[in-house]
Amino acid sequence: MASELEPEVQATERTLLECSAEETAAKWLQATDLTKEVYQHLAHYVPKIYCRGPNPFPQKEDMLAQHVLLGPMEWYLCGEDPALGFPKLEQANKPSHLCGRVFKVGEPTYSCRDCAVDPTCVLCMECFLGSIHKDHRYRMTTSGGGGFCDCGDTEAWKEGPFCQKHELNSAGMEVEEDPLVHLSEDVIARAYNIFAIIFQYAVEILTWEKESELPADLEMIEKSDTYYCMLFNDEVHTYEQVIYTLQKAVNCTQKEAIGFATTVDRDVSNFILIVILGDCQERKRNTSRQTKPLKVQVMHSSIVAHQNFGLKLLSWLGSIIGYSDGLRRILCQVGLQEGPDGENSSLVDRLMRTDSKLWKGARSVYHQLFMSSLLMDLKYKKLFAVRFAKNYQQLQRDFMEDDHERAVSVTALSVQFFTAPTLARMLITEENLMTTIIKTFMDHLKQRDAQGRFQFERYTALQAFKFRRVQSLILDLKYVLISKPTEWSDELRQKFLEGFDAFLELLKCMQGMDPITRQVGQHIEMEPEWEAAFTLQMKLTHVISMMQDWCALDEKVLIEAYKKCLAVLTQCHGGFTDGEQPVTLSICGHSVETIRYCVSQEKVSIHLPISRLLAGLHVLLSKSEVAYKFPELLPLSELSPPMLIEHPLRCLVLCAQVHAGMWRRNGFSLVNQIYYYHNVKCRREMFDKDIVMLQTGVSMMDPNHFLMIMLSRFELYQIFSSPDYGKRLSAEITHKDVVQQNNTLIEEMLYLIIMLVGERYSPGVGQVSAMDEIKREIIHQLSIKPMAHSELVKSLPEDENKETGMESVIEAVAHFRKPGLTGRGMYELKPECAKEFNLYFYHFSRAEQSKAEEAQRKLKRQHREDSALPPPVLPPFCPLFASLVNILQSDVMLYIMGTILRWAVERHGYAWSESMLQRVLHLIGMALQEEKQHLENAVEEHVLTFTFTQKISKPGDAPNNSPSILAMLETLQNAPSLEVHKDMIRWILKTFNTIKKLRESSSTSPVVETEGTIMEESTRDKDKAERKRKAEIARLRREKIMAQMSEMQRHFIDENRELFQQTLELDASASAVLDSSPMVSDTALTALGPAQTQVPEQRQFVTCILCQEEQEVTEESRAMVLAAFIQRSTVLSKNRTKFIQDPEKYDPLFMHPDLSCGTHTGSCGHVMHAHCWQRYFDSVQAKEQRRQQRLRFHTSYDVESGEFLCPLCECLSNTVIPLLLPPRSIFNRRLIFSDQPSLAQWIRTISQQIKALLVLRKEENAATSKNSENRNELELPEGFKPNFHPKNPYSDSIKEMLTTFGTATYKVGLKVHPNEEDPRVPIMCWGSCAYTIQSIGKRIFGSRPCDDCLRSLTRFAAAHWTVASLPVVQGHFCKLFAALVPNDSYEDLPCILDIDMFHLLVGLVLALPALQCQDFSGISLSTGDLHIFHLVTMAHIVQILFTSRPEENGMDQGNPTSEEESAVLSLYRMLQQYTGSPCFAHRFWHQVAFLQCTFVYISLFYTLLFSSPFAVPGTSHFEHLCNYLSLPTNLFGLFQENREIMNSLIESWCHDSEVKRYLRGERDAISYPRGANKLIDLPEDYSSLINQASNFSCPKSGGDKSRAPTLCLVCGSLLCSQSYCCQTELEGEDVGACTAHTYSCGSGAGIFLRVRECQVLFLAGKTKGCFYSPPYLDDYGETDQGLRRGNPLHLCRERFKKIQKLWQQHSVTEEIGHAQEANQTLVGIDWQHL
Ligand SMILES: [Zn+2]
Ligand SMILES: [Zn+2]
Ligand SMILES: [Zn+2]
Ligand SMILES: [Zn+2]
Ligand SMILES: [Zn+2]
Ligand SMILES: [Zn+2]
Ligand SMILES: [Zn+2]
Repeated sequence: MASELEPEVQATERTLLECSAEETAAKWLQATDLTKEVYQHLAHYVPKIYCRGPNPFPQKEDMLAQHVLLGPMEWYLCGEDPALGFPKLEQANKPSHLCGRVFKVGEPTYSCRDCAVDPTCVLCMECFLGSIHKDHRYRMTTSGGGGFCDCGDTEAWKEGPFCQKHELNSAGMEVEEDPLVHLSEDVIARAYNIFAIIFQYAVEILTWEKESELPADLEMIEKSDTYYCMLFNDEVHTYEQVIYTLQKAVNCTQKEAIGFATTVDRDVSNFILIVILGDCQERKRNTSRQTKPLKVQVMHSSIVAHQNFGLKLLSWLGSIIGYSDGLRRILCQVGLQEGPDGENSSLVDRLMRTDSKLWKGARSVYHQLFMSSLLMDLKYKKLFAVRFAKNYQQLQRDFMEDDHERAVSVTALSVQFFTAPTLARMLITEENLMTTIIKTFMDHLKQRDAQGRFQFERYTALQAFKFRRVQSLILDLKYVLISKPTEWSDELRQKFLEGFDAFLELLKCMQGMDPITRQVGQHIEMEPEWEAAFTLQMKLTHVISMMQDWCALDEKVLIEAYKKCLAVLTQCHGGFTDGEQPVTLSICGHSVETIRYCVSQEKVSIHLPISRLLAGLHVLLSKSEVAYKFPELLPLSELSPPMLIEHPLRCLVLCAQVHAGMWRRNGFSLVNQIYYYHNVKCRREMFDKDIVMLQTGVSMMDPNHFLMIMLSRFELYQIFSSPDYGKRLSAEITHKDVVQQNNTLIEEMLYLIIMLVGERYSPGVGQVSAMDEIKREIIHQLSIKPMAHSELVKSLPEDENKETGMESVIEAVAHFRKPGLTGRGMYELKPECAKEFNLYFYHFSRAEQSKAEEAQRKLKRQHREDSALPPPVLPPFCPLFASLVNILQSDVMLYIMGTILRWAVERHGYAWSESMLQRVLHLIGMALQEEKQHLENAVEEHVLTFTFTQKISKPGDAPNNSPSILAMLETLQNAPSLEVHKDMIRWILKTFNTIKKLRESSSTSPVVETEGTIMEESTRDKDKAERKRKAEIARLRREKIMAQMSEMQRHFIDENRELFQQTLELDASASAVLDSSPMVSDTALTALGPAQTQVPEQRQFVTCILCQEEQEVTEESRAMVLAAFIQRSTVLSKNRTKFIQDPEKYDPLFMHPDLSCGTHTGSCGHVMHAHCWQRYFDSVQAKEQRRQQRLRFHTSYDVESGEFLCPLCECLSNTVIPLLLPPRSIFNRRLIFSDQPSLAQWIRTISQQIKALLVLRKEENAATSKNSENRNELELPEGFKPNFHPKNPYSDSIKEMLTTFGTATYKVGLKVHPNEEDPRVPIMCWGSCAYTIQSIGKRIFGSRPCDDCLRSLTRFAAAHWTVASLPVVQGHFCKLFAALVPNDSYEDLPCILDIDMFHLLVGLVLALPALQCQDFSGISLSTGDLHIFHLVTMAHIVQILFTSRPEENGMDQGNPTSEEESAVLSLYRMLQQYTGSPCFAHRFWHQVAFLQCTFVYISLFYTLLFSSPFAVPGTSHFEHLCNYLSLPTNLFGLFQENREIMNSLIESWCHDSEVKRYLRGERDAISYPRGANKLIDLPEDYSSLINQASNFSCPKSGGDKSRAPTLCLVCGSLLCSQSYCCQTELEGEDVGACTAHTYSCGSGAGIFLRVRECQVLFLAGKTKGCFYSPPYLDDYGETDQGLRRGNPLHLCRERFKKIQKLWQQHSVTEEIGHAQEANQTLVGIDWQHL
């Protein structure tokens, strides 16, 4: 390219190169004003090097910059030749114990789940592999770029902070020593000087804002007038938009625009075009029409040049400080030194503060420099952190306006300081960081409503974008809190509480936000905004939890926080303002005063973070026992329970009412809110805490009061306070809806009570550990169904470290079931855990609850237990909550239970429901369990206050005189309609009795036995009998149904007889052949030669799948065809670099032994009439045309290239194969072998015939006039009649199909336009037959479809010559024959090393009839077949001997007469030596595919099947196989028998010039056995693939990282997929790297692994593709497509084998077809761009 440079430029280049770095440095060393000197140097040279026109030559620039600009600096710094100086510095350096490797995009990073302090602590691959963590539970991710390895950071790891490598460096690091001691004074002084100047220069020029003038000290005297139009990339505009804009703006082609766009994106500096200023201004207007324009700037070329060099300098600094920690420290010092302008004037400050104005490339360069300097030096990291914190607010403000992602913003560095515990703590205490972050956050959410709460606008895309940025502040807050303090100083307490205050301020703005009012009458018109509020809540969830964790660590902090939180809550409520005047409620002689408030009529909000935070803190008081230790310090007396419960209760009532359908008119936004309220992502700090708050309230107040308030809030007070509600309603049927609503509300209320009493698994509420809590969650999830690991993880809440805590307990509660070849590994609940199942578990959704109920009942029935699901035994409450259980035995509760039971007993129409009853029964059960527990754990002489059993035995008071609850239960037990609840009632009664017995044994006062027991006992017996009888009835019924079913099945078969028959027939057609020779065992079978076993002709009947008509296969009948799919294939290829260059000129007659491109034919084996198929295909075509007009999407098949789906099995097909009879039975009626010629005679005869034919052909070509003369000279061999043309035995229909299939093979195989006249058509047919047989390889022969297809293919290929031109086929035969038996007429024949012998054999056998049909001398075709086989076999043996032992081909040392003579000699010696032993023959059979293929081929050809061809490799079996093919077991015998002819043949083969070249070692040849091709070996550990891919850079864009590195599983190439940079043109279309690769590597089909996604990709042609499950599984037997979970992945060999098999069997295209039929969205993907 250099030559293209203008001479002028070349001249400057020369002068530049004359400049000496050493001299310049020397001048600088003498200078008094070094700054001025250096600036002058730069001002002079920088524009010369970097202003070189529109097409920069980066390498040249780099070279010149190094020579002219950087060189002097290095000399100056070292004071000597830097080639000597730097190594010295490096040697003197004590390397850091920090790794600090900065991650590239896509590089794998590892985090230890056991030891990392937080998930942001990561290791690079090298460190990870050398660390103790590789044997721990770890998580693997791919880096998004930025960030560095934390190896060596003792604060980042609980254990093992060093890998082996960095461990060494850490020795003696206890004393933090100044790294400067390793440097000499001189170096320090010089480094200081030069760093100060150039760092200053770089910062100045990068932050320079003027467009056309330089800083004064850099201005040049002569200034050119070139300007650059700079286009700045951002995240708002898509690639396509940029490309389009560019095209418009600078009038370039799309190609150029794409080129520029990729540059802009990678972006070091954004050259576009040089244009003169005026013009560019014009264009600038052009591009800015969009709402937010792409940033375009016109700049003077010299500014651009200096900016480029500024960046270069920063990277240079980064690499220089790598030599020495001392230099690094000097640079840090320079960077953080305060400048002349005071505060914020250090270079680092200046860069940070202009961050949002810099372009992407500049930012990443200086960020990297910061990472390798400031962050690697512990002393300066601290100072830098302080600078960062001081600038925090400003930086965040800039970031909000920035048009780049956070990853390229300086704000992203926060993770580096905030997650380091000591730094974070220092920033909190010294810089008040918590408060700063929260305040900054509040500053960005300005919009408030009248009450000062947040108010969000419509959640548009722009809103979402801005909002996302604000959320990064929450992330920072999370980082700060993530590592908890181990000890508290007073300052820390003070600053934390200050931060807590700010946080409460924030939550206060959320308390009650987005209030809603029930819509009555009309449906709401516009869904209100709700997403923003929930997003905020969701993002804050972890922060809220962490705040509580912090509080829990220090008693003083906890008490203070509790007080603060309570104060804010009281402030929020400001008394009860919602209700007007108080009302008094009373039931059962209890009364309470409360406010008037109806959820269904007034405003209500789901957002109550303050209440919930208080609930959390309250639990902590209990858990940490602060509540008991320092009750005097707590404002417990100030707590007003009614106030605490009010808002959470409203929220829960809202949910109940929504569920009851009362809020239908409020639309989906409400439904969504309720969903998230309970969702695993939010519930921990929403729903769960509301329950806790109610529990807190109940434990502090009279339960009767609580229940009445609850009734009132549920708007059910009226119902329960008027005793005849049930009766009244049964009379008024009109209010059915209202009744229904009330029923649901009652159910919901009972459910809530169950939860309040039963949910005691949070540590602090109940006496449990965190383990118990997670265990219970898992038990309930697995009660629904067995689950995969990832499913389970998704259903459990994650903490801030993304841990669920599941691994520690899962073993205790579940069994793991391994996955099979498909599917995933599953966890199953251990049976013994089922007893802990609680039907009313509070995290079940309705659907989950009913599924779990069903599953658990089913399980119980399977174990022949009764199906009751009684409440489980619960752990005791903590003392602070202990009084809560009294709610169960409170008067109002008993009253509610009694009322509902009475309704059930009295069966008042609608007024009760079964679920109501079920809940009441559950509550009674809970009360009984509770009492039992109390009794069992009772301490002597302790008064038991829980006396539920006594209370329910007592009948109701006057005036109702209602029966006791117990009595009602006994009544209900016999109610016939309550069958399902009987087990539960019985369980209650039984437990009741147990408790009574317990009481009796413990208490002195005996309780009189009630009649209940007796009744219960008797009913139980009765029930048992009843049950038995029912089971019997059920069994009989089942049997009857089974009988009916099988009857129906028979009918079905009768009705669909054809279908069944057709399958049976197909089986029969093949098995008939097998059965035909039962008396002839394998031992005696002979297929070739004189002793050929005679098999009676089989008649073959088949049924058309389309018209169901049956037909016999004969030569005269209408054609029957098989759906078939032809494809080009490279599966067997031994040379993937070879492909057909020019298909029009390609001669496929001889297949090269590398099998580089073959044609494969496959079929599903379904038979149709040719005419039926034709009709079907026409209709498919017509339908497709109609469809294409209407809808513009593709199908999974391409009709235009003849593709269709098999009408029966939907297998992809593109042609049909005709079904034919065995070919030789038609043409070879003469089977008498009495007088047949030997091989030598036969060869002679054939040679004569060929000679005659060639002469005739020549005459015909020469001229028609002179023919008479020559004719006389020609002596025709005996019985040879070249004028005879045999009659074609096939029907027209069959002939047509022969042509159709032949042409299709030709068209697909060569990728040319169909031409049935082309002489290559028959060759392609034979080739496809040979290739397909070869491709089945060693696979056990006999699977049905393959079998059918191969047989048809073989017969077709044998019959094809009848529709081809006779002279053409004869010509092919002659040429093929000449390859083995030399003939002067042919020249350019391949030598025997370059011929695939099986292809040759097939070709010769199939072409032979064309010659034989004119021979009337009495030689049978079978004789020809046998001789051809023997001849080719011997040639192949010679071929093998030539190629397999080249070292022993060393000629006789004694008399090297001539090369070829000695070759023949040694060959003979070898022939004798090897082929004489049976071992060779055996190896020949079993390792060299040739005989196996021949065996398959011959057996199909003659329809003479072996029952188990490759069953046992025993000798006798082997002898049978030899016998079958008329081969001697001693192969040398073959040569000896035909010594006379073979001698001369072998000699002629050896004399071939190519063979000689080979023998001289001048060329290569394929050796045998060739071995089956396999997919590449994949590594065991997936991360090594990721690592490999991260080192891979796009081959086209100069060392840039590829976005979608994709591995070809066939050849192992890595490709840069799905990217504009690597698109190429293929057949006039732009295609991605993968598609392009399939054309060279897989002739159109390909198997890839997308490394970043961990996904297998199948591609076929340009339009077809699908994704396939990858062969990598995690320890839980799951794949991780998209690498989202990050569990370590390991190769699953079975799954990989399955993929390999798909490939070897040519089923990739078919697999894609099936996948696309199953999933239509796959069809729409632009596969060609991958
Ligand atoms: Zn590392
Ligand atoms: Zn390391
Ligand atoms: Zn570890
Ligand atoms: Zn048909
Ligand atoms: Zn089919
Ligand atoms: Zn490949
Ligand atoms: Zn690329």
